[in-house]
Amino acid sequence: MAIHGQLRGVERELIRDLKEATISVSQLAKKYGVSRQTIYGFIGRKGVKRPAREHTKQCSICQGLIRIARKQHSDFLASHTIREELGVGKAAFFYHIRILRSKRLVSQKFGKLYSRRAERAYQIYFKKRIPVRTIGKLVGLKNFWSIIRKHKDLGWNVPAPLFTYNSKDRRRSAAKRIRRKKQG
Ligand SMILES: [Zn+2]
Repeated sequence: MAIHGQLRGVERELIRDLKEATISVSQLAKKYGVSRQTIYGFIGRKGVKRPAREHTKQCSICQGLIRIARKQHSDFLASHTIREELGVGKAAFFYHIRILRSKRLVSQKFGKLYSRRAERAYQIYFKKRIPVRTIGKLVGLKNFWSIIRKHKDLGWNVPAPLFTYNSKDRRRSAAKRIRRKKQG
């Protein structure tokens, strides 16, 4: 009776979790604040069929990819950088990442950035309060703005820039432009 009581009210949620192969019994025990034995008992009583342990759980490449994907702004890492960190070739990278995307274990955008320059630009964009145009110049991208716009259009979750023009900045940069023009 006590064991029953522990899981009362969360049965439906627990069944859903159990059908999800990515969550282990240990993790579930922790999540619901019960012992693993209690979870196993529940599985037996309810006759829940757990999916077979999947490739992604056992595969070190997939696990490595998941680990990297959990980092902040990981969608903006260049595929080259990710491959380098894991020491995998292109073919292997695409094979495993496709599995992970189809199972929604990583974001659909993860690993889809190919330009290392864009990656460098985004790294600055996330950390520094400087204008997008300046960031572009720093990394040698003329069109960083249009890259951002394109990514947004394609559904990338690009945060707003840290740098925002206020009217004073605007006047100043306009004045600078005029000065530059006059100089030649
Ligand atoms: Zn794999």
